[in-house]
Order: sequence, then C-alpha cells, then structure tokens
Amino acid sequence: MCAKDLSSNEARDRERFYSDLVLHHSSDAVVICDPDGVALWINPAFTVQTGYGPTDVIGTDPLALLRGPETDRDAVEQITLGFQQRREIRLDIRNHTRAGTTFWADLKLSPVYDTTGKHTHFIATMRDITERKILEDQNEEMRHSEALRQAERGLLALTSEWLYSAKSFDELLMVIKRAMHTLIPEADGALYVYDASRSMLELATAWGSMPDFEAQIMPDDCWALRRGRAYSYGQKPIQFACDHVNKAGAPYFCLPIIAHGETIGLMHIVFEGYEETGPMRHLRDEIFRNRWDVSLICAEQISLAVANVRLRQELQEKSWRDPLTGLWNRRWFMEQAQRDITMATRQNKELALISVDVDHFKQFNDRFGHDAGDEVLMEVGRIMLRVSEANVQACRIGGEEFVFLCVDCDETAALAQAEALRTEISKAQLQVRGQSLPSITISAGLGLLQRDGPNLQDVMHAADKALYHAKETGRDRVVSQAPKTDHAAS
Ligand code: GH3
Ligand code: MG
Ligand code: MG
Repeated sequence: MCAKDLSSNEARDRERFYSDLVLHHSSDAVVICDPDGVALWINPAFTVQTGYGPTDVIGTDPLALLRGPETDRDAVEQITLGFQQRREIRLDIRNHTRAGTTFWADLKLSPVYDTTGKHTHFIATMRDITERKILEDQNEEMRHSEALRQAERGLLALTSEWLYSAKSFDELLMVIKRAMHTLIPEADGALYVYDASRSMLELATAWGSMPDFEAQIMPDDCWALRRGRAYSYGQKPIQFACDHVNKAGAPYFCLPIIAHGETIGLMHIVFEGYEETGPMRHLRDEIFRNRWDVSLICAEQISLAVANVRLRQELQEKSWRDPLTGLWNRRWFMEQAQRDITMATRQNKELALISVDVDHFKQFNDRFGHDAGDEVLMEVGRIMLRVSEANVQACRIGGEEFVFLCVDCDETAALAQAEALRTEISKAQLQVRGQSLPSITISAGLGLLQRDGPNLQDVMHAADKALYHAKETGRDRVVSQAPKTDHAAS
C-alpha cells in the first residue's frame, strides 16, 4: 500500500468516524431503511425520542411502529408514497412512543443512491417539535377565543348603544330582553326591579325559550341581593340555591342591578339542561368560563342604562314641571293639548279647556307681599290637584293663570270640574308665617273642542273670552261661553 492510498484510507476513516459521531450524538432521530422501507439501523436519539430500541425496530417498518390513533392518515399516505416513488418527503406528523404518549415530529425522508445511481437506502430523520406544536395550538386557541371575545364585545357595544338610546323604562326593558337573548342564547333570564315600597322585587321582563319565573321575589330569597354581589350557582361542590329559583339543579347567575349606588333590581340567568343530569352537562364548565364574564358586563351595562333612563326621565319631568306648584308647565300643556286635540278629533271625542285666573291677585300681592302671593299660588295648585278628576290634568301656564286640560269631557262635566275648583278655593283658609290671610276667589272660562274648535288656538281663545266675561260680570264665577256680542277679549 502506497503512502497516497494510506492517506486517502485514513481520510475516509476519519470521515466515517465523524459522521458516526454526528449520527450518534444528534438530537434528531435517524433511521436508515433498505429500498423496501425496512429499518436497518437507528441512532440513539431514535430510542430516546420513541422509546423503541434497535431490537424493536430493525427488520420492521418503523412507521408502523410509530403510528397510533392520533396519527394523521394523509401524512402516513404521503410517506408511503415517498417510499414507493423514492421521493423526498418532508412533513409534520404526530407519532406515538412505545409508552403510548404522542409527540410531534418534523419528519424528512430522503432516498439515497450510490455512485452508480442505484437506489440503495432511505434515510429518515425526525426532529421532536412537540413543544412548538403545543405553542402553535395554544396560539390558535387564543386566536379563536380572542375572535369570540371580539364578536362578543361587538355585540355588547351594539347592545349598549341601544341601551343608552332607550328613552323610557319600557323601551329599555324591550332592548334588554332582546339583547340578553342574543348575547346568551342558551339561557333563560329575567329582570326584577324593586317595587315602590322596596319590600319586594317584581318581574319586569323575561326572555328565553321557556321562561318560567316567580312574579315576585323577596330580597332575602336571593343570595346575590343578600350578599350585595353577583352569585353563580352550580360550579362549586358546596353551594346553596336561592329560594326564588324553581329549576332544581340548573346552573344560574344572579346579578344585582345597581343605579347610582343603590340596588334597584336583579338579573337572573338560568341555564336549563346544563344541570348534572341534563343533556348539556358536558358544556357546563364552558358556561361558567365563558358566560359569567359576559353576564357581569351585561349587568353593569344594564345598571348604567337604568341610571341613564332614570336621569333622562327626571330631567324630562323637570322640564315639564312648574317649580313653584309642581303642576305641568306651559310647555307641557301646549304639547299635550295639541296631542290630545289630534286624538280627540280622530276619535270624535269631546275635549275641554278650563282657563282659571286668580281674582285681584295684584292687590293681594301688594297688600301681603310676594311671598304670600306665592303661597296663594301653591295653594291653588294643591287644590287643583285635589279636585281634578282622572281625565283632567292641572297646569300652570303663567303668573296666576292656570288651565285644566280635560279629555273625554263635555260641557256639563267641564262646568262641574270648574265649579268644584271655584268652591274649594273660596273655602280655603290661607296662612303665611302664622298670619291668616283673607280668602281668595278665582274666575274660570270654558273652551270646548266641538263647540269652539277645530284648533288648539281656537279653543284657548274661547276659554279666555269666557274667563274675561267672568271677570267682567263680577269674578268668582265660571262662565261656559262669552255672549256673541262680547268682543272685549278679542
Ligand atoms: P284680575 O282679577 O283682573 O285677574 O286682577 P289681577 O290683579 O289678578 O290681574 P293682573 O293680571 O293685573 O295681576 C296679576 C298679578 O300676578 C301681577 C303679578 O305681580 C302677579 N304675579 C305673576 N306671577 C306671580 C308669581 O309667580 N308670584 C307672585 N307672588 N305674583 C305673581
Ligand atoms: Mg291674570
Ligand atoms: Mg288675576
């Protein structure tokens, strides 16, 4: 052997040594197969990764060893084709170790040819990418739940927009009913609000497929109301159901509705069919995980919306009330009278206005002072409210000018109403700062839609003319209609 042969042999040996070293110490699993796909050799990493040693693998189809219930069929098919067609294949595949645990591998199959071009082997390498896959799955799951949350948020935003545009409590209840049914479609629900005495809560609205709720509940019947915070039932091993609940075992949420720091009601959400023996029991945990937060947000939104409607109603009410007497003001009167006249005309019904004016009020003011005058006006307001029939609204439309707006009211009834006021006022005993004041009187005149209409202005004008006639003819009286010859008030 010449020196040259020696050195090339040495170099080949060294190369083989190095590649052996790499194969033995690689963390990638390597398996070498014959042209039929039968394993000839595995490296130590193969055993570490799969749990199978050389005696298990050599002489077998290694893929058959690693295949399990979670292995993707398409991936197996592609590898089989790779063997058949001697093609290079690279894919991610879920394998099973000897102990039965699954792991993800980035698998590469390569055909190996000798210097003559003959196909001699296959070499397959597998890199364990389980951790990366878990992270990818988690990300996917997070993306999915984030998308769900986003959809929920969108729906919530839309709902809160509706909630905030509700003008009245009734309108708000309608929005709540629809919104809750859409946001939590698997639940039945109810909204309760405290009655005026605050001794119990009354069912305001209910939603769902088979809502069946108590019409009234006592505050002590509910854990959420007793504890002053939201309560969920059905998740913890030891729990007590509220007394107002009549669907035994079904998971439910009770959420207090709080406006301006005061508990004004309760939202009750029940998941029927999700009880331990129910058909939907496998989704029970999901309900608590996904619906609890949404319910809390809904309760909060509803609380704000209720506060908002109350404020709006208070402001509205204020803008319609006369601050001194508490009667409806001129603005309310003009709008309401117009609506009532339109309705009365459409339904061919009667409507009457009674114009009322305090007699010699200026003198009264001059003699006893403005405060005493105010006292008189307040007393007139109180008496108007006391004597007014159910179909009659009392309004203060100017200084000492008042109106009774009477729907569905003919001349006889209007005269009786005006007369009742006149007599009651003349009997009133007025006192200011302990000092008795002389009695006062009023004059009144009628306007009747069917007689004096058709417009509000016509009826008001007729009532004022009649009132003027009452003043002209001695005051402290009610006049139905000014004589035709009387032009004084026009
Ligand atoms: P008549 O019998 O013809 O109605 O005589 P009158 O003095 O009542 O008539 P007039 O309309 O001249 O006087 C109304 C007075 O009402 C004038 C005004 O000082 C007084 N007044 C208007 N608004 C108020 C108020 O809010 N408080 C008080 N105290 N007085 C008011
Ligand atoms: Mg006047
Ligand atoms: Mg007057």
